[in-house]
Amino acid sequence: MSTETFEFQVEARQLLQLMIHSVYSNKDVFLRELVSNASDALDKLRLEKLWDDSLDADVSDLHVEIDVDKDARTLTVRDNGIGMSYDEVGRLIGTIANSGTAKFLQELKEAKDAAGEEGLIGQFGVGFYSGFMVADEVTLLTRRAGESQGTRWTSRGEGTYTLETVDDAPQGTSVTLHLKPADPENQLHDYTSPWKIREIIKRYSDFITWPVRMVPEASAAAAADESGEAEAPEPETLNSMKALWARSRDEVSDDEYHELYKHIAHDWRDPLETIRLQAEGTFEYQSLLFLPAHAPQDLFTRDFKRGVQLYVKRVFIMDDCEALLPPYLRFVKGVVDAADLSLNVSREILQQDRHIELMRRRLTKKVLSTVKEMKTKDQERYDTFWREFGTVLKEGLVTDPENRDAILAVASFATTHHDTEPATLKQYVERMKDGQEDIYYLTGESRQSIENSPHMEAFRDRGIEVLLLTDAVDEVWADAVGEYEGKKLRSVAKGQIDLDAKDEETPDADREKRTEEYAGLLAWMKEQLDEDIKEVRLSSRLTVSPACVVSDAHDLTPALENMYRAMGQ
Ligand code: ADP
Ligand code: MG
Repeated sequence: MSTETFEFQVEARQLLQLMIHSVYSNKDVFLRELVSNASDALDKLRLEKLWDDSLDADVSDLHVEIDVDKDARTLTVRDNGIGMSYDEVGRLIGTIANSGTAKFLQELKEAKDAAGEEGLIGQFGVGFYSGFMVADEVTLLTRRAGESQGTRWTSRGEGTYTLETVDDAPQGTSVTLHLKPADPENQLHDYTSPWKIREIIKRYSDFITWPVRMVPEASAAAAADESGEAEAPEPETLNSMKALWARSRDEVSDDEYHELYKHIAHDWRDPLETIRLQAEGTFEYQSLLFLPAHAPQDLFTRDFKRGVQLYVKRVFIMDDCEALLPPYLRFVKGVVDAADLSLNVSREILQQDRHIELMRRRLTKKVLSTVKEMKTKDQERYDTFWREFGTVLKEGLVTDPENRDAILAVASFATTHHDTEPATLKQYVERMKDGQEDIYYLTGESRQSIENSPHMEAFRDRGIEVLLLTDAVDEVWADAVGEYEGKKLRSVAKGQIDLDAKDEETPDADREKRTEEYAGLLAWMKEQLDEDIKEVRLSSRLTVSPACVVSDAHDLTPALENMYRAMGQ
């Protein structure tokens, strides 16, 4: 059988170098990554078999198995799941598809010291490659369910890997780590110790829904047996497999929740918030949702995978189930386990199901009320949340009128009132000046460009607070929402804003007089600019600039025009 040698893609090579020379102290997590991949592979096989009964695969005893060999210093994680074809191994293991990785590597180059590096590794998942933190060679043997030939992948992590086809590979995947030499100074990191393995699985992978078994070493079992007769050792199941979402709150530690989050979100960081919801009655479900602490890179791309995992009575049904939450909550991760759905339920059916619709509404409200609670109880956490996800959440102001008030209650905006502290609409209204009837805002590219706008002059002069909105979505929602607590939301760049209506210094009569005075100039300007403007008016909004362009209250603002144009409308 011929062995072919391939080069790793550039980014993959950089990542591997990083793993090999890693200073990351928490190396135990490599096992979590391998078990997590094995568990995904078992989920995939079970589903594929469900869709296609003719698939030639054994699903009678799906499990993960861990073997250690003290003498050879190897550790193997084996699953009898979906496996990979020859092409898939090259594609999935030889390259890095994750779009966040490029950014990760860039930041890493900029991190000058070991502490910075350690922090970064902790933040970015590196999955399969994390094995190279503890091993100097990794072998992967796999056979795709339904195929007859297997594939062996081997690498020392240094630039190249080899692939060869194998005739007698068992179904599924086994990953064998040839562990680095033992460190006599540090027995804690002896990954050939069953005790150590047990501890890691318990800590990181207890909730995995498939059994994770360990077969005690034959020689160790024999030595323990005084008669000296070696019996086939019984495998031990290391994880409890208890679905965390089905257990009561006081039975589960925060750490356990966080490990589940990391498994489903493929994130190495703790979530910002854990949300439990259990519904009883005619349509029963349990859910565990998480608000991540960081927005993913691709949150605003078209093919961002949104939605949470759907289970039916503890059985995994699908990833990224978009029917369970609205698009503006696409960053929420988690699990929903519904008791009364068919195992064969499809995405199309879910989109139309009345119970699912009710569930979505309830989950949406629960997420929003959790954010609100965070805002009242833990300002710092809320600030993180809003910084990361505020822009997305504001989309809901346009698309989800039912929850508009709930979103407005947690939305905050940059304001002229304070350089760094954003304000809610409620705070704005409480601070409104006597006689001020509307809520003023201005949209633009950046806080600075808005503050420099001539439109701001009169407001600054009169000490009237203006919200400074810099997201593309801001104009859309401000238009769609229209008013808050009876106060109109008004762009200071639109329509006629008569700040002086109640100002005694410049009564209306005075303005009329001045308009007469300047009639000649106004007419001349109108003539000169006829093609481009509707009208020329005297303004009370400027104090420094001689003139500014204002759009009609109902016209599209330039930024909005650009946005619609970009959307092809
Ligand atoms: P991630 O799990 O976040 O996708 P990994 O680096 O852990 O990233 O794995 C890369 C890919 O390799 C997986 O998405 C999967 O397609 C494939 N893979 C890894 N381990 C297995 C396995 N045990 N069985 C089948 N496929 C696997
Ligand atoms: Mg993985």
